[in-house]
Amino acid sequence: MDFGLSEEQSAFKKSVYDFAKKELASASAEPKTTRERDKVGGFFREGFDKCAEFGILALPVPEQYGGLGKDVVDCALAMQALGRGCTDSGLLFTISSHVFTCEIPLLQFGSEEQKQRFLPRMVKGELIGCHAMSEPEAGSDAFSLTTSAEKRGDRFVLNGQKTFISNAPIADLFLVFATTNRARGWAGVTGFLVERGAKGLSVGKPLEKMGLKTSPTGEVVLEDVEVPEDMVLGRVGQGSAIFNAEMEWERSCLFALHLGAMERQLEDTIRYAKERKQFGQPIGSFQAVSHKIADMKVRIELAELVLLKVAWLKAKGSRASLESAISKLFVSESFVQNSLDAVQIRGGYGYMAEYEVERDLRDAIGSKIYSGTNEIQKNIIASLLGL
Ligand SMILES: Cc1cc2nc3c(=O)[nH]c(=O)nc-3n(C[C@H](O)[C@H](O)[C@H](O)COP(=O)(O)OP(=O)(O)OC[C@H]3O[C@@H](n4cnc5c(N)ncnc54)[C@H](O)[C@@H]3O)c2cc1C
Repeated sequence: MDFGLSEEQSAFKKSVYDFAKKELASASAEPKTTRERDKVGGFFREGFDKCAEFGILALPVPEQYGGLGKDVVDCALAMQALGRGCTDSGLLFTISSHVFTCEIPLLQFGSEEQKQRFLPRMVKGELIGCHAMSEPEAGSDAFSLTTSAEKRGDRFVLNGQKTFISNAPIADLFLVFATTNRARGWAGVTGFLVERGAKGLSVGKPLEKMGLKTSPTGEVVLEDVEVPEDMVLGRVGQGSAIFNAEMEWERSCLFALHLGAMERQLEDTIRYAKERKQFGQPIGSFQAVSHKIADMKVRIELAELVLLKVAWLKAKGSRASLESAISKLFVSESFVQNSLDAVQIRGGYGYMAEYEVERDLRDAIGSKIYSGTNEIQKNIIASLLGL
């Protein structure tokens, strides 16, 4: 057993971190900083384009479609480095949705024609992808969705409404899940590729959120949207397999961003605890503070182990349903707790927006909800244990 990274992996991870730290720190035009964008809900398009140029959007995509062909472990390492180097968690969340819930399903289930048509432009950032599963009445019970796809000749006609869709307000390509046969439940769910501009497809105003404010989220309405047969992703009825496969990717790579963010928080918090003095001594010398920091470190260490185990299992072609549910649950709970601790250790300053730790807390809370709530992860774990 070897817990170390190869020289190549370490160098790659460092190059992503250096890129994020240098290139994603500030925009060239207003709103320049993450804090300013967080206030107005601004999407950092320039940062997205820089990530495309650097190759972030190309990570898991094979070279024949313009990608870098990295495996899951390298993708997770890159996400971890991005999360540590860049404070704009909303931008990184948008990138993750684009790569792991749109490019990955296309790669794994798309026809050659679909891959050739969309992937090279997605890799360059010319097309932004989104993934539309959730509906107002179908959240955790995702496969009870009611968006319908009716076969008419050589096309399907889609009707329904999606909500909480990351990237919807800025997306060019929508992976929409609809049912071709409600009586068949999950077996009737099918994925469709729909392009912005399709007649009958509309996107609502960005939804106002607690955190991740720099990642636009919206509703998608489908009214008699005609989708040609060749824009079915995979086979009719294969939607649940697509969804489950991409969730495993998301639960490792998206959550690696949070692992990186926790590392950044820890470094800043240690520095703060050494500098801030009360009662004539650095607050870090008080055990109540240093133990919180020790707990933060323990959570990070365990989160990294469990997350990289998922990535390693997937890279060698094994299923990781149990491990990815455990990882999603543990990393998100740790992210929220570490964010709370980071605020508490800064006292009143932690509560003030200027010090930029309260934003991490707001950003972190969503991680217990998206990619399947933590209660659902516990259901998955229990059922895989035979309960
Ligand atoms: C920031 C953000 C981004 C998102 N991005 C996307 C996206 O890009 N695409 C997309 O399709 N969706 C997206 N979602 C939606 C997300 O997948 C859903 O919010 C999530 O699946 C939960 O569904 P719900 O909100 O309807 O809650 P509900 O399913 O109504 O759950 C409400 C509460 O009941 C609990 N609960 C429900 N059923 C059970 C059960 N069987 N056992 C125990 N507890 C249960 C839940 O855990 C939760 O605490 C996003 C959500 C957020 C917050």
